[in-house]
Amino acid sequence: MSEQYEVLAVRYGTRQATAAEVFLNYHAYREPDRPLGMDYFFWVARNPARTVVIDTGFSPASGAARGRTMLMDTVAALRAAGIAPDEVAQVVLTHAHYDHVGGLPVFTGTDAEIIMTRDEYDFWTGPMGRRGQFTHTTEASELDWLRALREAGRLTLAGQSHPIAPGLELTQVGGHTPGQAVVTVAAAGGPVVLASDAVHYYEELERDRPFSTVANLADMYAAFDQIREMGDGGARVVAGHDPLVAERFGGPADAPGVIRITRD
Ligand SMILES: [Zn+2]
Repeated sequence: MSEQYEVLAVRYGTRQATAAEVFLNYHAYREPDRPLGMDYFFWVARNPARTVVIDTGFSPASGAARGRTMLMDTVAALRAAGIAPDEVAQVVLTHAHYDHVGGLPVFTGTDAEIIMTRDEYDFWTGPMGRRGQFTHTTEASELDWLRALREAGRLTLAGQSHPIAPGLELTQVGGHTPGQAVVTVAAAGGPVVLASDAVHYYEELERDRPFSTVANLADMYAAFDQIREMGDGGARVVAGHDPLVAERFGGPADAPGVIRITRD
């Protein structure tokens, strides 16, 4: 039997957005604008043998600079999920945006292996990542952390597909960022796909509507196809920023902000 995990989504931040901010070229749909809440999550896959954290949240400073509401910092959010940083074996970064890598310092003093795709690392540490429409989604100091981790031999760079651990697989899909990854987790009742920002909102998948922040539109559409196929095959897809995650998976929370994706 393959190894299985319990999966949690930890909601550590939120903001009020609008459909026109969220969806690429929203005017093309000829619909009135509407308010749309945006939640900020990271994810946990754990079993008795191992705890893996997928993404780390934004830092208090980078969240505040963008007007986001931080509900819990990374340490408090981990604690809410019942995790101490030094218990974490691996940290997967689905991409390098500020709201996914900003909590990394919590893990720099631990032995955790940090994993991201090579394409993502190369893009953001290279010249194109500094162009205006890209750079505002990252923090230069946080990209320096990635460089330092790499130099220290702490950062594993993954290819298109990478086995993180038994029952845990990273798949690069691109689109939102050049090396955007999703993580598939073996769980009781079937696999869970942590889509992160390959699918911010279920509406992207269900109405085929790309998100406004995009590195390659054709890749984003192709990622929708790939993730839909995973869903059609029985996987539970967890969107990266959608308040519907709490509705679709919520039940009694383990703690405020902790949504249990898997229930035995
Ligand atoms: Zn992103």
